[in-house]
Amino acid sequence: MICRACGRAGGRDDVVLDLGEQPITQHLPDPADPGPDPRAPLAMWCCRGCGLAQLAGEVDPGPEVVGVEPTAVRDLARSALADAGERGLLDGATVREFGSPHGGTWLDLLPGHRVVTDGVAEVVIDSLGLMHEPDQARAAGRLAAALAPDGTALVQFHDLAAIAEQRQWNALRHGHYAYYSATALVRLLGAAGLVPIHALRHDLYGGSVVLALRHRAAAHPLDGSVAELVARDAALGITEPAALAGMGAAAAESVRRLRRHLAARRAAGDRVVAYGAASRAVALFAMAGVGAGQVLAVGDASPGKQGRALPGSRIPVVAPERLADLAPDEVLVTIPELLVELAAARPELADRLVRLDRVDD
Ligand SMILES: [Zn+2]
Repeated sequence: MICRACGRAGGRDDVVLDLGEQPITQHLPDPADPGPDPRAPLAMWCCRGCGLAQLAGEVDPGPEVVGVEPTAVRDLARSALADAGERGLLDGATVREFGSPHGGTWLDLLPGHRVVTDGVAEVVIDSLGLMHEPDQARAAGRLAAALAPDGTALVQFHDLAAIAEQRQWNALRHGHYAYYSATALVRLLGAAGLVPIHALRHDLYGGSVVLALRHRAAAHPLDGSVAELVARDAALGITEPAALAGMGAAAAESVRRLRRHLAARRAAGDRVVAYGAASRAVALFAMAGVGAGQVLAVGDASPGKQGRALPGSRIPVVAPERLADLAPDEVLVTIPELLVELAAARPELADRLVRLDRVDD
């Protein structure tokens, strides 16, 4: 294992979470495909040189299926841009975005800026693009090279401090190469010449951050928000493998709880479906040995996922409006961010929604 950011070699002791061979999330099989679904090792390690938590191995997961993003993702984009605008960080005429291959963009929220797809811009947005790059150092360099000398980059990330504190072990997935703490991200982008001047925290995914950065020569801290995050990271020891040591036990506990829960539902004769054909359900269902006999279907609003199945568990993916036809007694919501909008869009199911990360018997 060679660090994707600093190039230091890692060893077995640096692995913080090892889920073994898991179905490749991006591969949503046709239900008629006899299988077996492709699997690859899924493990996270933490570099002792620069503190970056990262995916082990070099499996190319293939293209992402574009998903429908929760409205909470839009809320983060809106509040981050409002915050940046108030601080004068959106000055300039041009914007360039490094977006997530899962879909979603901030560009329509900046109608006054001309979009640049190649070359330099005064506002550069990375909305979960960077984490999808196997070579983190190179991607950081590309981000810095895209930023005009007096421009501002806004970089969104799911905070590793929140992942560690809430034991969100299933944030780990193929194709997500980096899991950033503010500290590790500041180091990574610092090596490319970018310096953070402000951080905005948001509760998306249990804890997200948008970091505003400028080239070193143009960077003056706006406030103590970045220092606060770095101090919190230090208190957690988040750049050390030990801070993430509880993740494996959390994964095992999630598997036990889900098995108990579904056994109890089955004993009661209840019909269970899920909502959200999301990556974090794939490994959990596969590890718990859940199949289409226990979870009848998973509803998802993305047309590209409907008619296919979750890899490993082979639970069929259907349009959300089909779920009610299955007369479910319970709907397992795979992403907490989807609870509110699902209750609003499908009021007939609102009284039977259960968070997948909170199941118990
Ligand atoms: Zn490193």
